[in-house]
Amino acid sequence: MNKRPDVTLLKSLPQIEEILKQPCMQQIAADLPHEVVTDAARAEVDALRKAILAGESPTINLQDIAQAASQRALRLRAASLRGVINASGVIIHTNLGRSVLAPEAVEAVNEVIRGYSTLEYSVENMARGSRHDHCEQLICALTGAEAAIAVNNNAAAVMMILSEFAAGHEAIVSRGELVEIGGSFRIPDVMRQSHADMVEVGATNKTHIFDYERAISENTSMLLKVHPSNYRMIGFTESVSVRQLRHLADEYNAQREDDKKMLVYEDQGSGVFLHLNQFGEYTEPTVADSLRSGADLVSFSGDKLLGGPQAGIIVGNKDLIARLKKHPLARVLRLDKMTLAALEATLRLYLDPEQAKKRIPTIRMLCETADEVQVRAQELHDIIAKKIDSSCASLAIVDEISRAGGGALPMCDIPTRAVALTFAKGTALGCETFLTKRCSTPIIARISQEMVMFDARTLLSTQEMEAIAQGLADYFASIA
Ligand SMILES: *Cc1c(COP(=O)(O)O)cnc(C)c1O
Repeated sequence: MNKRPDVTLLKSLPQIEEILKQPCMQQIAADLPHEVVTDAARAEVDALRKAILAGESPTINLQDIAQAASQRALRLRAASLRGVINASGVIIHTNLGRSVLAPEAVEAVNEVIRGYSTLEYSVENMARGSRHDHCEQLICALTGAEAAIAVNNNAAAVMMILSEFAAGHEAIVSRGELVEIGGSFRIPDVMRQSHADMVEVGATNKTHIFDYERAISENTSMLLKVHPSNYRMIGFTESVSVRQLRHLADEYNAQREDDKKMLVYEDQGSGVFLHLNQFGEYTEPTVADSLRSGADLVSFSGDKLLGGPQAGIIVGNKDLIARLKKHPLARVLRLDKMTLAALEATLRLYLDPEQAKKRIPTIRMLCETADEVQVRAQELHDIIAKKIDSSCASLAIVDEISRAGGGALPMCDIPTRAVALTFAKGTALGCETFLTKRCSTPIIARISQEMVMFDARTLLSTQEMEAIAQGLADYFASIA
């Protein structure tokens, strides 16, 4: 397939020095370090050389190369991590930063980063305090747990628990729960990394309590249950509940020494505190439900269904949590003050469930009915209609489906309303690309049947709607 490289093209590639002499490069050289400018020129030449060696015949023009190099260098100065407008309708969008924080959480972060704070200081005792103390009592009050600790994320929580309680021992897990969460987090890999001996039981679709029972040995230290967050098995399936695992563990523990008890640990993935009743049979069990069913330890994410900052929260038996607090990984995986402030403020909102539903964006968006979303869809529709000419595109409010995202509630179709654009000028794909790449705040929309859709469920303000209308106006101006 590959054509032979054209060696004469290689010879026509410009010297780095020549590129640096071009006016556009001279201009940026005044503001950027010399190495940055040189590296950008070298990167452009390298890219061309690679293309030529791959048998391509790119046009080689000194000015174009200098232009591309200056753009490349300038990109370093532009923010890479920045806000976007999420009109995709995916509420806990992992690529877009999962949960949006409540205003109270934003304010709390602001306060602790503007000045010094009580991060590890106890005002009460006028002495050194612990950063673990800020959230522990709240988490316990909200879940009924004896003790709690929060770490960097739930993947870290799983790792820490397995390292402390299952390293050098056997942990039994169902084959139906050996999940991959995405981003290279797979239960079997984490097991290996933490030196736990994984004992798989059951079949992919069915695991029975006797499967666990048969696998128990002297060296079993844990019965692990993993919530199949991002998928569901339907049809001829069966899994074992935390309650059944509790009974089994109790039976065996009766004959074991106190320090050799077998633990029941559930990795819940998406932690929820409230019963989200509108999801009917798909409602996720709450953290309190798992503890009541007899789990010794439960871990879950802070930024999935909980709607807080990225964190991994572990709740359960106080002796076990005390061991985790002393684990070397607790220091490695500890939370910083910004996250602690956001987490504490989010948790405080849960003290009043009605307040939590109103103030925590993730919960509010999950709970809103299509009729409630309709109000925002109408507002967006009217703002766009005022801004763009009807000869460019026609506008309609349509029934659509939102998703929870974040590996939560995968089977739930959440009815919503979206504003749909049908194009008389331009194309849906062209418009989507423009909104993503060319707007100062990127706008993430969805395409369906040659229409661009803006799901009003995940829009957060009138300003966002105005930015969408402006982005559309700019798109149509760009193709005029
Ligand atoms: C999401 C998830 C994780 C990882 O949690 P992060 O907070 O993303 O690190 C682990 N286990 C399950 C079951 C999950 O759903």
